[in-house]
Amino acid sequence: METKGVWVLALPAVLSVAGCGSVRPALVDPGLEQEIQSIRAIDNHAHPVRVMHAGEPADRGFDALPVDNMEPSSDPVNIRPGAPAVAEAARALYGGRPKARVIEEKGGQYPTWVLDQMGVETMLANRVEMGATVEPPRFRWVAYADALIFPLDNARLAERNPDRKAFFTLEDTLRARYLGAAALNAVPATLAEYLERVVTPTLERHRRGGALAEKFEAAYLRSLEFDRVDRATAERVYARFRSGPAPADADYKVLQDYLFRYIATECGRLGMAVHLHAMAGAGSYFDVSGANPLLLESVLNDPGLRRTRFVMLHGGWPFNREITALLEKPNAWLDFSAQSLVLEPATLAGSIREWLEFVPEKVLFATDAYPYSDELGWEESGWAAARAGRQALGIALTAMMRDGEISRARASELARMVLRENARHLYGL
Ligand SMILES: [Zn+2]
Repeated sequence: METKGVWVLALPAVLSVAGCGSVRPALVDPGLEQEIQSIRAIDNHAHPVRVMHAGEPADRGFDALPVDNMEPSSDPVNIRPGAPAVAEAARALYGGRPKARVIEEKGGQYPTWVLDQMGVETMLANRVEMGATVEPPRFRWVAYADALIFPLDNARLAERNPDRKAFFTLEDTLRARYLGAAALNAVPATLAEYLERVVTPTLERHRRGGALAEKFEAAYLRSLEFDRVDRATAERVYARFRSGPAPADADYKVLQDYLFRYIATECGRLGMAVHLHAMAGAGSYFDVSGANPLLLESVLNDPGLRRTRFVMLHGGWPFNREITALLEKPNAWLDFSAQSLVLEPATLAGSIREWLEFVPEKVLFATDAYPYSDELGWEESGWAAARAGRQALGIALTAMMRDGEISRARASELARMVLRENARHLYGL
């Protein structure tokens, strides 16, 4: 979707200042840099926060699994309090004024004003639900589906570590909400009924609500290895454990795997993409090896899932090279959200170059703008990631030009593809 309007890009001035933190202008062709700054982007993945009226509770719909109540971990340097990129983002956005005053002044227009500052035309908002101030056309919905693949007693899974205990409490709450929307207060007697009365209607409701995709944060809850399971086996596990006790991990996995592929198939039917967290994740207990995107290969290779478009969010880090090979699958895309926040542009540029040299139509710009804290809100993290992501793209394309791989014209074309055209084609925007 191309909206016409006045765009004010607050970015280039900062990029031209030499010696400014991590910015290395010499690495980017100046004309190309100018172009990259002026392209109105589609941000494939972010968590914008609504502006609420006085007296309303704070918005918590920005994530099914908010990561602000986890045990301490050693945070990456770029998102620690006082990080230069964060301070720069705050200066660029607020110019030394209190953030609260700017929010008050902009009122309900504040979230779209933030997009303008980021040079983002459309942001895919990964939220439990949409609402006033974060709404189409500038924000498009990505809903959550994990709660649907854990319909049984999750006590055993929750026991694994304190973070998962918090996560499964949240997933149980969301699943209860999905059941409530189906006028149920417990899962139905059979798997067939669960699929017909809960799973499919939830996905259809999301689609009617404008969702472009369903998001799985499964990597926070289990491994990304979703095997092919026959229906009769899944039905047996469901029937045996529906009223408790909590199933053994191996039994439960069979049902989760079946439900994941069922949902992915339904997403294909409904014209929604499937988004997957595919990167090391927040928290000190995150199972990094379980987030290896190669674990998704059997899903991508399932002939029954070739109609479904899978988008691996965050570019797979630290498995950036493994994910490259998956781009050959006709149903696989990736974005570089979060890497654009936690890695330096020159580091990310190496991966972007490799992806663009392989299957450039499948590479998407994204930020993972997220409300980490008051200091590092979705605005600052979004602005910093948008700037670093553009910088990384510029470095990658400039290096490809200098090495004689692509022409200057092709560099322009690739910049437009990554920043918006690939996403437009993927979602039909
Ligand atoms: Zn995210």
